[in-house]
Amino acid sequence: MGTQLFRYSEDNKEKFLESDNITFNDGSVVTPEEIWHYLTVEGPEKYPGSFEVNLYQGNRASRDETLPTSLKTHYLGLTFSDRMEKAKDRGKSIAFIQGGQAVDPYTAADTIALRPGLVNQWYGGLEHGNDINKANLRRRKSKEKAFHDMSFEACQTGGYEHVQEGDLRIDVIAPYTVLRCSDVSYGVEAHRHGPKKDVKLFNVDYPLRYQADKPWAIEYFAQNLRRLVGTLDEVTGRVTTEEDVTKAIQLHNEGRRLGTELAELWWSADVPPTNSADRASLVALGNLEVHGDVQASLSVLKEAKKFIAERVRNGVKGHAVIDNPKRIFILGSCVGINGSRSEDAGAIVVGRDDQWSHCTSLVEEEGDPYYNLAKTTLEYPYEQSIEKRAHWTIEQIRKSRADGVIFIHNWGCNTQAAVARPIVDIIKRETGIPTYIHELELGGLQHEQEQNRVNAFIEML
Ligand code: SF4
Repeated sequence: MGTQLFRYSEDNKEKFLESDNITFNDGSVVTPEEIWHYLTVEGPEKYPGSFEVNLYQGNRASRDETLPTSLKTHYLGLTFSDRMEKAKDRGKSIAFIQGGQAVDPYTAADTIALRPGLVNQWYGGLEHGNDINKANLRRRKSKEKAFHDMSFEACQTGGYEHVQEGDLRIDVIAPYTVLRCSDVSYGVEAHRHGPKKDVKLFNVDYPLRYQADKPWAIEYFAQNLRRLVGTLDEVTGRVTTEEDVTKAIQLHNEGRRLGTELAELWWSADVPPTNSADRASLVALGNLEVHGDVQASLSVLKEAKKFIAERVRNGVKGHAVIDNPKRIFILGSCVGINGSRSEDAGAIVVGRDDQWSHCTSLVEEEGDPYYNLAKTTLEYPYEQSIEKRAHWTIEQIRKSRADGVIFIHNWGCNTQAAVARPIVDIIKRETGIPTYIHELELGGLQHEQEQNRVNAFIEML
């Protein structure tokens, strides 16, 4: 039996063509006509896996054809690899980051900041014509190499292998050392000894454990951020001023505000205005870094908020959302459940803590921008002690009216694996809602065993 590919229906073309352009960092613009052409002609040829209708993707993910911004996030995702290649051809600097921080300093220093998922997406998109299984096999092979060359104890989200094999033109590895991520220390150290030892490295030293209200810690971290920007400037050859950093903070605050408002609009609706995948991809725009282009993310985010407000006003339900789905909140780093399959089982994902923590953390715009960034970053709810993080999480669970909580940790994600139990215990004690902890194997499609356990939890709810 041949593979069935999803096609965007011409019935929705007219409405889509009335929507806005996407404007990119370099000032270039792509029109809805061009996006439509890409999604219906070029995209399916280059990335058939993304259009495949099968057990893993169902016919739900990014298939909300009457929501123009759903198509636009699909477009930005599919063109990501090509856009990064073009950016490098034009001499743009690219940094590999990790650790769950906002990217204001990198934006200020005219550097694209890519976290692990995006580095892997860049590599994935370099090969064309793969169906979903071939694309997955290719990803698994590269991770297997990283396990051999680095350590089987690390999660390997980081894309160590792509940098060390020279597959991707990454100029500098400059993550924050933060609580959430145990892969940073493995990764950065491993790069010191890999075949490409000459890749520039900088660790932004984040003071750990209850330091948020200590003046020395804020000053120390602010100094580290200055050194980070200095290192990024060594790569680009430019001089980043404090004014550049303030402008970047203002820009990112706009994204954070819009992203937070969009999520709260979604939560305010009686019926979910989008499915799980669209909610996640639209709220993720708030951090402006998700597509490697802050302006493109901002322009789609502005439009998305308008469309979601309209849907909420008119009581429109998202594509393929069932009546009264069980609402699930996801906890943990670099994780998620298969939205489409979980919807088939009767649920919908209404939020997650990772990334949302820093989307909700606005940075003061007056005064020393490095100090302001340091202060906010040290206060990220996700990076606080177990009790504090759990109490912030409970607030989000209540706002989202979640019926259940799943804490997921990847194999090798040592910090999250260790804190999962006490965090869900506090949540359960204080809210009474059912919780469940789930270990995930990184880099695969949602395996049957994993989905069976998620489905059993949904059934129990
Ligand atoms: S899964 Fe955990 S260890 Fe791996 S990159 Fe994410 S936070 Fe870091």
